[in-house]
Amino acid sequence: MPTKIVVLGAGFGGLELSGRLSDTFGTDADITLIDRNEGFVFGFHKFELMLGRATLEDVRLDYRDIMKPGVRFRREVIASIDPVSRRVVTDGGTYDADILVIGLGAEYDFAATPGFVQGGSEFYSVDGALRLRDVLPQFKGGQVVIAILGEPFKCPPAPCEAAILLDEYFTQRSLANFQISVVSPWGRPIPPSPDGSKTILARFAERGISFVKEQMVVGIDPSTRTARLRDGGTLPYDLFLGIPRHRVPDVVAASGLAEGGWIPVERGTLRTRFPNVFAVGDVTSVGTPKAGVFAENAAAVVAQEIIAQMRGSEAPRPYGGTGTCYVELGEGRVARLDADFFGGPTPVAPLTGPNPSTAQEKRDFSAVRRARWFGGEPR
Ligand SMILES: Cc1cc2nc3c(=O)[nH]c(=O)nc-3n(C[C@H](O)[C@H](O)[C@H](O)COP(=O)(O)OP(=O)(O)OC[C@H]3O[C@@H](n4cnc5c(N)ncnc54)[C@H](O)[C@@H]3O)c2cc1C
Repeated sequence: MPTKIVVLGAGFGGLELSGRLSDTFGTDADITLIDRNEGFVFGFHKFELMLGRATLEDVRLDYRDIMKPGVRFRREVIASIDPVSRRVVTDGGTYDADILVIGLGAEYDFAATPGFVQGGSEFYSVDGALRLRDVLPQFKGGQVVIAILGEPFKCPPAPCEAAILLDEYFTQRSLANFQISVVSPWGRPIPPSPDGSKTILARFAERGISFVKEQMVVGIDPSTRTARLRDGGTLPYDLFLGIPRHRVPDVVAASGLAEGGWIPVERGTLRTRFPNVFAVGDVTSVGTPKAGVFAENAAAVVAQEIIAQMRGSEAPRPYGGTGTCYVELGEGRVARLDADFFGGPTPVAPLTGPNPSTAQEKRDFSAVRRARWFGGEPR
């Protein structure tokens, strides 16, 4: 009997894991990959949706195109997870796993910030980015506030990238009377990257974008268009873009897997406290930022763990907490951050670029993963 591997969530983590196991075991693999969505959308493509530069059809990688041997994709909603028996119940069936991997990501708690549902906008969800696509052309000028509403949040550079890209968008539309501010709980845009932060702040200075540091918006009043700050102050806005508070999906909260908000895992192996149950990516509290590149590197380690377990071979090197991501700096310029969270006494993320080769790497990012995760011929 082949080992039954059930992977919950077809995001960065789930797709990387399934792809790697398929590459090793081919048709001998017995992998069931479950996600409720029709397809995968890279986080940075939400900028393209928001700015009207791409449609959802342009950027969505449809799961029906997965051609990896040994991988069965099921489009179903996961209703319960029992980590003890490794039984998963969905709206389409029941799955009993020998090895269970949870890569269900982080969800958004829009209602956690008073006034946000009624008067705020966001680009962190596909729906939010698509709504903004219709709102932005109507914007006639004024104060634009981009505020981080809670920690942790996905892709730490994204709020600053959004500010730079929106500035460019409004400028191209010849809008003159606008002021963009980013409200951050941190002292600089990317705490582990002094040079990355300096480059972003230099761009902000060039373009007149403000960085409001060590501050948090705790609520907004849509009737007066005022954001309330943690220190009791206020900030007026005409357009409010919030980075919503994050939390685990309800099905994870109900499973008993999470503690202190996220799923704790052993750092080097991504094992949970339940035998043969792993967790990867944003759903965990492993100690790296919530970003796809960390999720996929963690999934690569879990794949090696599973291969070693099935073959009785040597365990892989532990998960190193590294990830390479790209930062948009406007006018097509892109820099690279090589982050390392576990290698030294403190996390570091030195910056390379912006230069033509870092911009090219970012352009190749999605095509490389599409080929690795989906196999077959690109459409
Ligand atoms: C604007 C923006 C820009 C970003 N830019 C970058 C970037 O440049 N680089 C980078 O590395 N990261 C970036 N990110 C972050 C990145 O998108 C996430 O960190 C990454 O997707 C996390 O991967 P994951 O596998 O943990 O979870 P996800 O990719 O979120 O996958 C989780 C999956 O679980 C599924 N799921 C959840 N609950 C259920 C259920 N009950 N039933 C069935 N399915 C379920 C979801 O549908 C989802 O497909 C960005 C994010 C945003 C919002």
